Amino acid sequence: MPRILDTSELIPIIAELVKKACYELDDNIMDSLRASLEKEESPYGRDTIRLLIDNGEYAKAEGIACCHDTGTCVVVMEIGQELSWRGAPLRDAVNQGVRKGYEEAYLRKSMVADPLDRVNTGDNTPAVFHSEIVAGDRVSITVMPKGGGSENMGAFSTLVPAAGAEGVKDFVLKTVEYAGGKTCPPMIVGVGIGGTMDYCSWIAKKALLRPIGERNPKPFYAAMEEELLEKINRLGIGPLGMGGRVTALDVHIEYYPCHITSLPVAVNFQCHSNRHARAVL
Ligand code: SF4
Repeated sequence: MPRILDTSELIPIIAELVKKACYELDDNIMDSLRASLEKEESPYGRDTIRLLIDNGEYAKAEGIACCHDTGTCVVVMEIGQELSWRGAPLRDAVNQGVRKGYEEAYLRKSMVADPLDRVNTGDNTPAVFHSEIVAGDRVSITVMPKGGGSENMGAFSTLVPAAGAEGVKDFVLKTVEYAGGKTCPPMIVGVGIGGTMDYCSWIAKKALLRPIGERNPKPFYAAMEEELLEKINRLGIGPLGMGGRVTALDVHIEYYPCHITSLPVAVNFQCHSNRHARAVL
């Protein structure tokens, strides 16, 4: 007998996750910002990091958004294959939860219905919804408000396979350099390598959900993460682009098998306002 959930149960949970994510930067990002103070050599950079820490603490204490840009609402669900649903379609329930959260908390509504006519939908829907089927009968729901500044600077390219690891690193570094301060650093750099054009971009985003400080389990990619982090932090962009050492708090690489003729690579940035909240049902 499969476990059955009514999709309406998701609505209040997603609404609360929206509020929590927008109000509270978790310990992982706050601790990482505090630790970065030790590494920053520039006085402007250190002052900027202190302001970001104060801002995060104040937003949590007062129950207000830690950034005015409360983003596109990315919702990621890992759904156990032994779970069944009843009620309204899952996507509708996700959007109802997002609408409820943004309206109740008076969070900024940033979505336009058509990218070319630019009319605001008024309730921050639709969410960008990703789902994956996993083992078991539970569902994990992650809400990730994604600000425009960092999202706008992401990039994708299909390299020739001969470009290899050096080509990938070169693409990542050029993308970071081009982005400069527009991603609101210090940031997390998500890198997807492999798959297809769509899947590569998805794993670059998924990489941003990994806790700061956690390395890819494969030693080759773990070493590449560390090398890129060091090189990015030598570019001199610094906190909010004010100059300094701390441009990235971490680099996370995810990879996937790909076609013999392809070497896809995607970069997705997450600003210091690294917001996500998760619940498991
Ligand atoms: S990039 Fe991040 S910190 Fe900067 S304005 Fe957008 S959401 Fe806010």
